[in-house]
Amino acid sequence: MRFTVLTLFPDMIRQGLSTSILGRAEERGFISFDIRNIRDYTTERHGHVDDAPYGGGAGMLMQADPILRCYRSATADLPKAPRVIYVTPQGRQFTQADAKMFAAEETLLILCGHYEGVDERALELLGAEPYSIGDYVLTGGELPAMVMVDAISRMVPGVLSNQESGEIESFEGNLLEYPQYTRPEVYEGLCVPPVLLSGDHKKVAQWRREQALLRTRERRPDLFAKVELNKADRKFLQAQAERSADES
Ligand code: SAM
Repeated sequence: MRFTVLTLFPDMIRQGLSTSILGRAEERGFISFDIRNIRDYTTERHGHVDDAPYGGGAGMLMQADPILRCYRSATADLPKAPRVIYVTPQGRQFTQADAKMFAAEETLLILCGHYEGVDERALELLGAEPYSIGDYVLTGGELPAMVMVDAISRMVPGVLSNQESGEIESFEGNLLEYPQYTRPEVYEGLCVPPVLLSGDHKKVAQWRREQALLRTRERRPDLFAKVELNKADRKFLQAQAERSADES
């Protein structure tokens, strides 16, 4: 899969994406990056890419023309126009389900805003889909773009080794992952739950499912409401509720 990123800070993106699992995936050819500096495409003689917003107000806006020129150059050789994402706090929230969906694309183009954002006409002309990484405002779109590229890349076949497999982890079936432990068995007086040392795979799987249910209900009631509970889940939660009632 190819990620094309249009940004005013290409070094930040390159550095962020070239280490660890993504760096290795790029070396092995599972993913590739085309990181473009929008400033290289301005025709303004001082290299400006931004201007004050019409109608007044604080800050500067990125102009449409350098963005469109950069986009046209980046997509000129592609067999078809890629989906274009504009990262913005005004977008719909990016989720794990979106990461899986985008991983099926051959190319994804991500536009990073900066300053007060981008001239709306650039977004219209690019047919950009707005995505947010959360309800807070960052200084630029570079971190959100890296967050999206990372999450999407993990879903591209070959990027994760078997050991790093992303099949059973948080958000699968709307559940958060269960608690995990590694050596030593006792650390500062805290023991690993005995079931994990039992060697009984069925019991371990059941314990993990139950812990995932409890953790999701406690931390993310919004997700828990969407979990499809099976018979065993209901029985476990019922027993839990009775135990809590007895204790109080
Ligand atoms: N004036 C904009 C607004 O109120 O919606 C905020 C602009 S922000 C300071 C600059 C850039 O950072 C945005 O154009 C966008 O690309 C990026 N950005 C900031 N927060 C983001 C978020 N939560 N998700 C995705 N992108 C974000």
